[in-house]
Amino acid sequence: MTQGIGASAGIAIGKCFVLPNWEWDLPEQKIDVADLAREFERLYEGIRTSKVEIEQMKDELSEVVGPDERSIFDAHLAILDDPVFMNEIQGMIERQYKAAEVAVKEAIDHFVTMFDLLDDEYMKERALDIRDVGNRLLKHLLGAPEITLPSDTQPYVLVAKELSPSQLAHLNPRNVLGIATFGGSTTSHSAIMARALGIPLVVSVDDELEERVQTGDVLLLDGGSGFVELSPSAELIAAYARIKQEQEEEQARLRGLAHVDPSTPDGKRLRLSANISSLKELEIALSSGAHGVGLFRTEFLYMDRTRFPKEEEQFEVYRSVAEKLDGGPLVIRTLDIGGDKHLDYFELPEEENPFLGYRAIRISLDRKDLFRTQLRAILRASHYGDVKVMYPLISSVEEVREANRLLREAMAELEAEGKPFNRSMETGVMIELPAAVMIAELLAREVDFFSIGTNDLVQFTLAVDRMNDKISHLYEPYHPAVLRMLRTTVEAGRRQGITVGVCGEMAGDPAALPIWLGLNVDGLSMSSHSILQVKERLLRTSQEDSRSALEHVMASSTAAEAKLHLQRFKQEVDERESPEPAESGRGNG
Ligand code: PEP
Ligand code: MG
Repeated sequence: MTQGIGASAGIAIGKCFVLPNWEWDLPEQKIDVADLAREFERLYEGIRTSKVEIEQMKDELSEVVGPDERSIFDAHLAILDDPVFMNEIQGMIERQYKAAEVAVKEAIDHFVTMFDLLDDEYMKERALDIRDVGNRLLKHLLGAPEITLPSDTQPYVLVAKELSPSQLAHLNPRNVLGIATFGGSTTSHSAIMARALGIPLVVSVDDELEERVQTGDVLLLDGGSGFVELSPSAELIAAYARIKQEQEEEQARLRGLAHVDPSTPDGKRLRLSANISSLKELEIALSSGAHGVGLFRTEFLYMDRTRFPKEEEQFEVYRSVAEKLDGGPLVIRTLDIGGDKHLDYFELPEEENPFLGYRAIRISLDRKDLFRTQLRAILRASHYGDVKVMYPLISSVEEVREANRLLREAMAELEAEGKPFNRSMETGVMIELPAAVMIAELLAREVDFFSIGTNDLVQFTLAVDRMNDKISHLYEPYHPAVLRMLRTTVEAGRRQGITVGVCGEMAGDPAALPIWLGLNVDGLSMSSHSILQVKERLLRTSQEDSRSALEHVMASSTAAEAKLHLQRFKQEVDERESPEPAESGRGNG
């Protein structure tokens, strides 16, 4: 047996697919003069193969994509014939005796940097094309195998060293039974996405498995406990199949609550909405009885592709979500890349501390062209539903004012163009930095709502990197410092009369519910899979009792003490409701 950390509950049993991890391993030696001809032949062969591949992709996709997308392939073919690009490569081989792959890599870097410096969208897109086609050529020169996932008809358990959010965005969730990674943490965005998609995930799996596991082996994993077993025995499979069935029955029971009003026994109504990052996740949210979307992580819209999405593409997605919510609220968070979220086509600087670096609103206010496009798309979608905009990683009043100023500019443009939008669309900020908590009173004067992002707030309050599994035991949402941050934020928002919600992972932890009820927040937004569990607790937990539970929690000196109070409170609620010990099968609702 192998142990990891359970990051997304559920059991998976099936044949696995081991994702190879290849990085460019470029030769260090120069080539021999005598080998020049052979090096050129390798280069030309690589170009020929790349062209055939691009032509094939163009043919395969011709029925499913429009002329716009098809023209990308023509642009790529043109680069492989471009005399300037090719001369640069040939020159490096011929005059500097560089190996073909080294010359290609350096030429890509050179042109990409050059085009990127130009303040011209068209040239920036060309830079992306060069990188894309250059990487294809490199792949052939280095003989790196194409990663092909198993065919669509065969579900598999994915095993990988690490899985980035953009790799996860590429997967078809219907075929992925479960995922095991050797690195990773429970609060990474990949883990958040896996939970939202209902894919069982175990992270930080013991490295010894890496040496033994091979594509095609049968793997069993439990995303709740973190248990992983390679080639499980028939008995173990049967035992886990039973547990899986019980879990599915419990899910079915909870689904019966999807349409029950989310109120406490003493009448406090709490909006329970969903965090989503794609249209795929919206369906799951709707079937979980979510009251709208409290956090649309738009960065994933930017991921599964080769260039920034245009205004029209973004507008179509936002509008489609707004319409599907049928009047329910839709909080669209502006681009929050950086940290652990990257775009293949947007080079972020190498940073010592990416979570403290060039990311989120900082990028948006720096790259106003990108921000403006997104704001226009969001505004246009506001005509079709209860759309609100939210800015991530706010640390100062100036940032909010600048973002709102750009929003007003976008409004003026749309007005001049005669495009409809909601003039009084609400704006909000994420409270996820200690600085934002400390100036919450000031920030509240600039916006209509707050949404507390506990994932980052915990990381920054405690200085515990949410991605670092070595210190994951220090990542503690119930730390007294975090609890005080939460209280300060809610009270500041209340005093200024704005709405306050929570959208970090803590919102979906049923144990935290008395805290939210005690603080009297307006809404919780969480992974869809948590909504019904939280609702079940909500239906049984009075706000009045929660207030006194909160007093005990706030008076705790340690996280352990706070959690013990919450645990005792839960037991009291359960016992008061049924004199018998709480068991499954208890009717409720
Ligand atoms: C958060 O930080 O709590 C949050 C909701 O944003 P993200 O997890 O996308 O950083
Ligand atoms: Mg965040």
